[in-house]
Amino acid sequence: MKETELKIKVIGEHILREKAALVKKSEINDEMRLTLSRMAQLMYKTKGVGLAAQQAGIDKSITVIDAGTGIYKLINPKIVSRSGSESMEEGCLSIPGIFVKVKRAGSVVVEALDEYGQPLEIKARGLLARALQHEIDHLNGKLIIDHLDLFNRMRLKGKIKELAKYGKLPESED
Ligand code: ZN
Repeated sequence: MKETELKIKVIGEHILREKAALVKKSEINDEMRLTLSRMAQLMYKTKGVGLAAQQAGIDKSITVIDAGTGIYKLINPKIVSRSGSESMEEGCLSIPGIFVKVKRAGSVVVEALDEYGQPLEIKARGLLARALQHEIDHLNGKLIIDHLDLFNRMRLKGKIKELAKYGKLPESED
């Protein structure tokens, strides 16, 4: 099989706004595990805390996350409970150069399958809880800028438009 390098999709690309297809049991095989490893490589290379499939141009409900406590490779993850609320500044590999405060649950419980199709439950708080919510948002076609209030949405409108058009911001921007 020819190795094609995965690349980060930047805002403006359609796939980031699509809901990822759920993975069928029969699709959980060596090829899927290879895809997950390549996503992990891309995440580490770009120094991300997590990477959702659509960010690598893949239409499957899969994500990789490493919030400093080891790697998670998750298939069909979903949040089954959430509690508390915290605001924290977040960035996104698909929206380079933009950091926004996002209010999310302080802790979550996520159910998923691991890369061998075994059910997995993750009880998370702190950075891991935040990363899980960020990546599961991606799998639903949602981005950090969707969490902005009207004021900040207006404030960042120009930058986001520019990103969508050119895939990056001009060097001279503040
Ligand atoms: Zn992101």
